[in-house]
Parts: sequence; structure tokens; C-alpha cells
Amino acid sequence: MAKRDYYEVLGLSKGASAEEIKKAYRTKAKELHPDRNSDNPDSERQFKEAGEAYDALKDPDKKAAYDRFGHAAFEGGMGGPRPGGGMGGGQGDFASAFSDVFDDLFGDFMGGGGRAGGGRQRAARGSDLRYNLRVTLEDAYSGLQKTIKVPTAVPCDECNGSGAEGGGEPTTCPTCSGMGKVRAQQGFFTVERTCPTCGGLGQIIKNPCKSCQGQGRTQKERALSVNIPAGVETGTRIRLAGEGEAGMRGGPSGDLYIFIDVAKHDLFEREEMNLFCRVPVSVTKAALGGDIEVPTIDGGRSRVKIPAGSQSGRQMRLRSKGMPALRGGGNGDMFIELAVETPVNLTSKQKELLREFEALSEDNNPESKTFFSSVKTFWDAMKS
Ligand SMILES: [Zn+2]
Ligand SMILES: [Zn+2]
Repeated sequence: MAKRDYYEVLGLSKGASAEEIKKAYRTKAKELHPDRNSDNPDSERQFKEAGEAYDALKDPDKKAAYDRFGHAAFEGGMGGPRPGGGMGGGQGDFASAFSDVFDDLFGDFMGGGGRAGGGRQRAARGSDLRYNLRVTLEDAYSGLQKTIKVPTAVPCDECNGSGAEGGGEPTTCPTCSGMGKVRAQQGFFTVERTCPTCGGLGQIIKNPCKSCQGQGRTQKERALSVNIPAGVETGTRIRLAGEGEAGMRGGPSGDLYIFIDVAKHDLFEREEMNLFCRVPVSVTKAALGGDIEVPTIDGGRSRVKIPAGSQSGRQMRLRSKGMPALRGGGNGDMFIELAVETPVNLTSKQKELLREFEALSEDNNPESKTFFSSVKTFWDAMKS
């Protein structure tokens, strides 16, 4: 199936502003959210499609590229939407469709979820939780098991989460007869409002549980053991289904999303699956050639041969010594970049030897020679 135009997906026309794009995405995401579309099997795909379109259009650079080249702008691996970052709960791709509007979006869901359908449902789904987890590059390389403490609402033990004293059933709200809404005449208009007695839930609790004040849940700090897979990077989201906040009055729990942030490393710089390491070498070693030992992210070391006459900036590749792919399938490479270091704090003996060396130097600096000959040509041309 041909890919749909991103603007079309979001119901926008070309050239829509950042604000319009954000607004359109929110509306779509709410409308298509799979939690609200259990009867529409295609909604998850559409939800993802909207997420992908938003990912591309919210970034000014990607948007400009898309405006010029269409979908071709993201083919061939450059600048395209990242592969799904989420894991766990079997819905990785689904989680990666979320974006920076995540928080607001879920705020709305929490308020609206249980009240949909005219107040017939008394239960409300618990809200999703976001947990920011900072990991080291070494941990991102090897993966780790981590225990995190999540402050969250859990079902109340006293009333088994029902919110009623002694576990009793709630009763239909007398004010709205269970509709969750009340109507009032205002001039020519009939205004529908959320029922003030039951807050729109359609049911009230006669004897609210004292322990949780009828909420059916209490605040607790839970320790949760989380498996962070090898290969995570900053921005990876891990979804733990049902580990979010407990629902209201027996409603389902929300999900917990762990947002990964990989800390900067002193030695290695990461670019997707590849690692870069800048290694200083002395002028003499760079000139004469020799072996150096470099660190690898797994904590090991690799011997690398420096060819005689190496210049600063020379790169060497250590195959498969980079980061692992998040979903398996091999490692990236590690690149070593040589930085030739000019010696400092010379003793008089060293200076003497260098002067002696300088006196014997002739054709040892071809780059300088070429440069200065170009400079001479340049000056000569200016004169004439
Ligand atoms: Zn209770
Ligand atoms: Zn009511």
C-alpha cells in the first residue's frame, strides 16, 4: 500500500503551521487511541500512522525535507523516523508513536476515560506514569536489571479497591439517575453539565471507605524490577503494561513508561550504533608508527596498529566494537580518531635533539610544502 501523505493523515493542508500540526495530532491521537477503539481493529495502525506523520512534521528540519521531497526524504535511513524505541508489554511500536504531547494527552485520558458512554461505567482507568531513567553508556551497552521506586496509587487494601466501606457496592447516583450528567434550562437552551453529586461517575458510595476516602486507591511507593535491554538510547521508551496508577474504583491500571536517558561518556561518543573515541598519540609514535592500546565499551582493550606517518584525524575502525542493536542483530563499529599531540615542557636536551632533527628535515612535511606553494601562487597572482 502506498504511503499516505503526512498532511493528509493529520487532516491538514500543506504548509500548516507548527501549532496547527500539534493541534491536529492531538485530536487524531485521542480519536484513534486504541484504548478507545477496541471495536476498530485498524485503529492501532492509524494511530501509529498519525504518530509517524507528527514525528516528521513537528521537527522543522524534517518538515522542510518532507515538503521538498515527500516520503523520499526519509528513505535510505537518513532523518527518517527512528525504529520503534519501546519494548516490553509486546507493544513496542505502539509506545514509540507517542511524542512530546504525551503528558497532556494522558491527562485528558484519565479524566475522560471512565466517563465515556453516558456515565454507565463507574470505574476509571488509572493514569499512565512516566519515569525518567538515566543510565550509563556501559549499562546501555550491556543492558541491566534495575529496581526503581515508583510513587503510585495502588488499590486500597481496606475496601479491595471498591471505595466503599467493607467492600460494599456503590449505588446509583440519585441526582442524575446514573447518567453522570444533569440538564438545566438556561433561557432557550438546555445545558448539559457533569453531575455535581457523583462527579460524572453515575454512582455514589453511601459509606465511603475511611482508609481511601472513597477513592478506592491509596498512594504507595512500589519497588519495581525493570529489565532494560541492551542497546537502549536516549529517547527509548519502555512500556510496562498495567504498572501505572491503579484505576478508580476497580478500573484497570494505567501503564508505566520508562523514558531512557543515556548519560554522556568521558571516552566514547555515540552516534546511533557506532562509537567514536578520540585517542591522542605522540608526534614520535605518529611519525614512527607503533601499537597503541585503546579501551572498548565492554571494559576490554584492543591493540591497534598506528601506521608510520599517521596524521591527526586519521580514523581506524574496530568492527563490531560499537553498541548492540536494540532488537538484536549485531553491533555497530567503533571508530578511533587519532589526535597527534605536540610535545610540551621540553628539556634543553630534547630541544637540542629537535633542532638537530629540524636541520636534517627536508621532504618530511609534504602537506606544508603544498600549502605554502599554493600560498605563493596566490600572492603572485594578486600582484599581477
Ligand atoms: Zn478504601
Ligand atoms: Zn450523579
